[in-house]
Amino acid sequence: MTTSGGLKRNPTELTARWSGRACAAGSVLEKISLVPINGVGSGFCERLAPCLEERFFHKFAIEKPLTLSPTQANLTRGQFFLNTVFNRLLAAYPARDGFLLGIMASDLYKTSHPFIYGDASDTDRVGVVSTFRLRPEFTNEAPNDDALFQRTLKECVHALGHSFALKHCHNTRCAMYLSHSVFDIDAKLTYFCDACDKRVRANR
Ligand SMILES: [Zn+2]
Ligand SMILES: [Zn+2]
Repeated sequence: MTTSGGLKRNPTELTARWSGRACAAGSVLEKISLVPINGVGSGFCERLAPCLEERFFHKFAIEKPLTLSPTQANLTRGQFFLNTVFNRLLAAYPARDGFLLGIMASDLYKTSHPFIYGDASDTDRVGVVSTFRLRPEFTNEAPNDDALFQRTLKECVHALGHSFALKHCHNTRCAMYLSHSVFDIDAKLTYFCDACDKRVRANR
């Protein structure tokens, strides 16, 4: 028998709270640009954009695709280093006027982490999500576009949460829960819990 360790798991507490709320201060919200990288299609990002707009109320745009050469990956690991991708994104779109979120098909790692699903920098206004390990085929499941889309959406919400200075959340149903596997990702929702939602509002 397992327990949730006393954590809140009530889905009713995790319903989106953004609905119908414009920016309270009336200021213009920062634009968020989605960048397809290395094998992710623009159409996939175009599907993500309205789902993210619904959750964040920021305007989302799709940038032209970016290709990172395999020679820019860590050749031993066959993975891209997170900061390399951040730097390439920032260099490739110097005129951007908001936050950049790359969606890449290549595998990703960072210092002390053998792999990551994604991450973001709230100071540099850049983030990236990798679909490499989100594909059902990676765990020997049948291809499933909907599963891939939902997992990617959750990790985009997670990465954007970091861009609003959110830390990881202990609530296993919250999008800010740190997922160690796709099973963790499948178990969480595409929204923040109440506590994280309040923090995002405060940090906007
Ligand atoms: Zn995280
Ligand atoms: Zn949370």
